[in-house]
Amino acid sequence: MAAIPVVVIEDEVAIREGVATALRHAGFEAIEAADGAVGLDAARRSGVGLVLLDLMLPKMDGMQVLKELRRTHATLPVIVLTARGAEDERVAGLRAGADDYVVKPFSARELVARVEAVLRRSPERPAEVVRITVGVAQVDLGRREIFSPVCEAQALSETECSILTHLAANHGRVISRDELLTRLWGLSGSGIETRTVDMHVARLRAKLATANGDVDEEYIVTVRGKGYMLGSSVKAVGPDGTD
Ligand code: CA
Repeated sequence: MAAIPVVVIEDEVAIREGVATALRHAGFEAIEAADGAVGLDAARRSGVGLVLLDLMLPKMDGMQVLKELRRTHATLPVIVLTARGAEDERVAGLRAGADDYVVKPFSARELVARVEAVLRRSPERPAEVVRITVGVAQVDLGRREIFSPVCEAQALSETECSILTHLAANHGRVISRDELLTRLWGLSGSGIETRTVDMHVARLRAKLATANGDVDEEYIVTVRGKGYMLGSSVKAVGPDGTD
């Protein structure tokens, strides 16, 4: 199994290198970042399993990094590194969506134990999905086609397929338009209008409805003010045939 990448965002060189070394010894891949802006970019790279985040950082402070990261990566595990006695920081960090905190100075062994504990209890890493059942229709993600007993096969665009795949890999979680924009087009925040996402979702919905003889069922649910998620009648199937 490939090593899980862990991003270490810490400006103090000695601490950052010590943490990175301990992680590598424990079998993780350590990605080092010396300021908040570089750290945020690194944390958003695909495949990252966990982020260790110092709060006092140059360029962008840790709380800001955490808030930005949560807009696009709602469940990526984050452990905040705080100074001894800074209880306000700890509370603010947890409130802003950190999963845990470690108080400095910490031992390498303690830190690695926390990383492993948070990874164990964090929501499942996105599942790999190869096929999706939507009502009576089957979506083959490899071929980018919808097969249905009630109509001819329909092709999906690459974007429609990516949206459906991302929703299916995170079944049960609401995915914001911002997250879809970042994941699909690599954009954070503005740039492409979030309306663009809505447009692709509308096309995808129309195809799924057609494949189901236009029954009145929401396969992609709009969660007001939050984003989209798959309806409960949609089943995602992984490479080994399990859902
Ligand atoms: Ca610092």
